[in-house]
Amino acid sequence: MPEISKRSRIANIDVSVFRVPLKKPWVSAAHAITHHEHILVEIELESGVKGIGWSSTMGNAGIAVAALAKSYLAPMLVGQSVYEHENLWNGIWRRSHQPGPSGIAALAVAGFDLALWDARGKIAGMPVRNLIGGEATQLEIYASAVNLHLSEKRLVEQTREFLDAGNKRFKIKVGRSLEEDLSRIAAVREVIGDRPLMLDANQRFKSGEALQRINAYARFNPVWMEEPMASDDASSHAILARTSPVPIALGEEVSTRYEFWNYVANAAVHYLQPNVLKVGGISEWLKLAHLGNCANLFIAPHGALEASVIVAPAIPGCYPVENIDGGSFVDQGIAFETMKIENGIVTLPELPGLGVEFDMDALASYRCDPNAEIPLADPAKYYEND
Ligand SMILES: [Mg+2]
Repeated sequence: MPEISKRSRIANIDVSVFRVPLKKPWVSAAHAITHHEHILVEIELESGVKGIGWSSTMGNAGIAVAALAKSYLAPMLVGQSVYEHENLWNGIWRRSHQPGPSGIAALAVAGFDLALWDARGKIAGMPVRNLIGGEATQLEIYASAVNLHLSEKRLVEQTREFLDAGNKRFKIKVGRSLEEDLSRIAAVREVIGDRPLMLDANQRFKSGEALQRINAYARFNPVWMEEPMASDDASSHAILARTSPVPIALGEEVSTRYEFWNYVANAAVHYLQPNVLKVGGISEWLKLAHLGNCANLFIAPHGALEASVIVAPAIPGCYPVENIDGGSFVDQGIAFETMKIENGIVTLPELPGLGVEFDMDALASYRCDPNAEIPLADPAKYYEND
């Protein structure tokens, strides 16, 4: 066993969880989301270097993620070298396998993976994207919103705001009645012209219904149909992907490399959308992107803006990063602005590490009580009609 130098040895790890209210609720065909929960993992090295990683939930089970991370996973890393990154990742993934292996377990692993990368970037004195293979200083983003509850009039206004802000690509939710969906898509098309438009059903449809819907949506030439059906059901997607007139996108609720392999091997998806946090961090996201490349698929990072802008530059031909309205740490008022978003382009941070500076004072007021009882928000309460 080689001796671990003080420079790289992990001395201490702290895990905390915050429940942050969104300025406006997010409503999709699946959920009403009123809060995001952020699990912060702070790894301190004996040299004094601190790596801060995070994981996030859509307001659901963050307390469980933090408890797994703090009580079971953190003790495995203390005393180890930050450069044993892959081995450490494997160790905590294996320990999480029995109560996991995906979902809460992968979200917990992600916090450590990001913290290790942050520390390594700070030691090297460069942004993590440089360490993993990306030199870009700017990236294109697309405007996205969780907006199924908005009336058609408000949806059109929101789209116009995104267009006026310089965005060039757009994504909207579907999953109301077919007539309403078609009317809403037509109204948005009128605003954005022939600019790229993506549709997202958040797993709303059953298999025959999905094809029927996509056939109807196809006249508006969407770039992709996202999550048409339950993303646990790879075999139905394999059939759909062979018959759909619109490419199929999914991955935001797929977690392990084995689940992704199942999709890729069965040609059940065209745009692979792994979420950095949901898959266990940057290290695993890169493997999944390469897996998609092996099958000649498009790679489209899902959400998690601050993490997605780190990985996207490392994948040639990566689809623009998703910018969900109200979803960034800056939008939520919990981080200082380290990257600039303008005219559909994000200028990336030049800070060493992950490039995120949390506002710890702002976060402090959202610290989560581990015994809190969290009610479920009812989507029906938020629906608007003209
Ligand atoms: Mg989606």
